[in-house]
Amino acid sequence: MSFIPISKPSITKKEIAYVTDAVRSGWVSSLGKYIDMFEEKFAAYCGTKYAVATSNGTTALHLVLAALGITAGDEVIISDLTFVATGNAVKYTGAKVVTVDIEEETLCIKPEAIKKAITSKTKAIIPVHLYGHPANMEEINKIAKKHNLFVIEDAAEAHGAEVNGKKVGSLGHAGVFSFYGNKIITTGEGGMITTNDEELYKKMRYLRDHAMSKEKRYWHTEVGFNYRMTNLQAALGVAQLERIDELLAKKEEIFKWYQEGLKDVKGIRLNRQASWAKNVYWMVCLELDDYTEFQRDEFIQRLKSNNIDSRPYFYPLSDMPMYDDADTPIAHKVYKRGLNLPSYFDITKEEVDYICEKVKEIL
Ligand SMILES: *Cc1c(COP(=O)(O)O)cnc(C)c1O
Repeated sequence: MSFIPISKPSITKKEIAYVTDAVRSGWVSSLGKYIDMFEEKFAAYCGTKYAVATSNGTTALHLVLAALGITAGDEVIISDLTFVATGNAVKYTGAKVVTVDIEEETLCIKPEAIKKAITSKTKAIIPVHLYGHPANMEEINKIAKKHNLFVIEDAAEAHGAEVNGKKVGSLGHAGVFSFYGNKIITTGEGGMITTNDEELYKKMRYLRDHAMSKEKRYWHTEVGFNYRMTNLQAALGVAQLERIDELLAKKEEIFKWYQEGLKDVKGIRLNRQASWAKNVYWMVCLELDDYTEFQRDEFIQRLKSNNIDSRPYFYPLSDMPMYDDADTPIAHKVYKRGLNLPSYFDITKEEVDYICEKVKEIL
């Protein structure tokens, strides 16, 4: 079997046609029809009034926090188990990152843990919809309402996921998406913020473009950013978004192949799906019960020697030098037993069967 990568984008004639059209039009920077089209279509897809495209998911996170006025002296509560960008974007604002534990079933932030972490300085919660499974937004929104906090969904890994039939990105004050090359849809690098709040929308567009005055060109009254997406990226994004149902259907099918292939294996668990959730299975998750980090890493090496790419779960942020320690026993139990298996659009049933065979053999 030739090498099976963990991820690769699905690029068809449609993507090539739209990007070619964008290049030929001469609108190669951050003006052009595809930007507006991508924002409008993405907002419609998520069921929000507005969307703002950005240069990547990390700048999208920073932009929304800056626009909400999060700053030094504030505290923001996030899940301890996430990609580092969630925490770093909070750090850029000067606010303090407070990481809390996850639920074992969803791998997402635990509402009870949020309650315990709230102080008079808390301004926002960023639930991360990890590996395609949405966080428990109903509980989180209840807590946020009671304490008057902003809820910003980090939906970078969960385009199309749902909570009780409503799409992520529409469930908090704002939703943040990434279109990095390995995400559910890609623009190469790229990000998006969805919201129903008109004021926030205007503020984000303003800050995205160096906070330039609308009335007076090259006049600026605060320090903004260049976080714009290019028309070329947006062209790729529009093509991908038009194919999102097809891309998500394949993710689900691939997950079912793994489920079937590994159904009789003891001592492992795959992605879960809470009764209220629609998981989009961004990454196939394999957890090896009772494995140490060392054993898990060895498992990854054995897969690699069989030409199968995989990746470890994220590490708890609280273990990293730039973040404060946190008491997060579930995140610490789960991260070391977890890895992700290949699940890109063009993977075949034969390849997944081969991977399942090798998983069993190594176990
Ligand atoms: C990918 C990702 C981001 C950041 O997105 P980039 O586009 O790579 O900057 C943020 N949060 C999570 C959970 C991610 O997986």
